Amino acid sequence: ATPMSIMVATGKGATMGVLFKNAEAIETLRKVDTLVVDKTGTLTEGKPRLQEVVPMQGWDADEVLRLAASLERGSEHPLAAAIVQGAQQRELALEAPTDFQAAAGKGVSGRIGGREVLLGNAALLSGHGIGISALAAPAEVQRTQGRTAMFLAVDGQPAGLVAVADPVKTTTPQAIRELHEDGLRIVMLTGDNETTAKAVARDLGIDDVVAGVLPDQKAQHVKRLQAEGRFVAMAGDGINDAPALAQAQVGIAMGTGTDVAMESAGVTLIQGDLRGIVRARRLSRATLGNIR
Ligand code: ADP
Ligand code: MG
Repeated sequence: ATPMSIMVATGKGATMGVLFKNAEAIETLRKVDTLVVDKTGTLTEGKPRLQEVVPMQGWDADEVLRLAASLERGSEHPLAAAIVQGAQQRELALEAPTDFQAAAGKGVSGRIGGREVLLGNAALLSGHGIGISALAAPAEVQRTQGRTAMFLAVDGQPAGLVAVADPVKTTTPQAIRELHEDGLRIVMLTGDNETTAKAVARDLGIDDVVAGVLPDQKAQHVKRLQAEGRFVAMAGDGINDAPALAQAQVGIAMGTGTDVAMESAGVTLIQGDLRGIVRARRLSRATLGNIR
């Protein structure tokens, strides 16, 4: 492509809410056959809300939520914000935790009023030797609705679960249809549980799901697809997505996400609207023609 045609494509992209960082991004997009998308904040709004609290026998739902929210006050995760907000709406009196720790992709722990409290996924609790079989059935009920369930344990015993839901962006269903029409295979990549991820993927008609991925493993999955001969674009919004965005042939960041993601990507969708990818590919083809 000539420098002039690249300039024209860059300008047109900007009017459609698509920022190209460089000529390479424009030139490469038309060759993509696989789009890997992060779930939270990319397909979904990334603003989960509390839906339900399920206490274990002998526990009160408000006390489960109060302990969970007290712990999450120290976390910057979107799941934490949903739990804290849910507790505040119920006007529960939160405490300040001590010895607070966050385990990336798993959950949080700390001491509240002399008690040892853990909140997170099954891996976090089993890592502390805590069985959650009594909560497996209610957790699955939440997950089949596309909700994320987090387990609370107090002094080494399960106490209940809290479930949140992160609504799909209003633009996502149409974006997925258009991306399919454009011939792309779409793979969802998420740290969330497999049942939750599959429920969301099924509603959207997404082809493949890779769930339970730890933050530092996302780039590995992109590499694996490339080793299978796929030409990969990766769309994401978080700090966790940055290595995968850099690994993909084209990285696509949500303008609504973190700066780190945008710095690692060749394309930014200013409003976080995935339909921008279809438009960007049209520009890529118009700029480069059918040259291989
Ligand atoms: P995602 O890829 O959806 O952004 P993460 O990789 O950040 O998710 O986290 C994966 C899982 O770990 C979450 O679905 C949740 O079960 C658990 N988790 C992570 N952070 C927290 C937290 N602050 N509080 C509770 N659970 C958490
Ligand atoms: Mg995300």
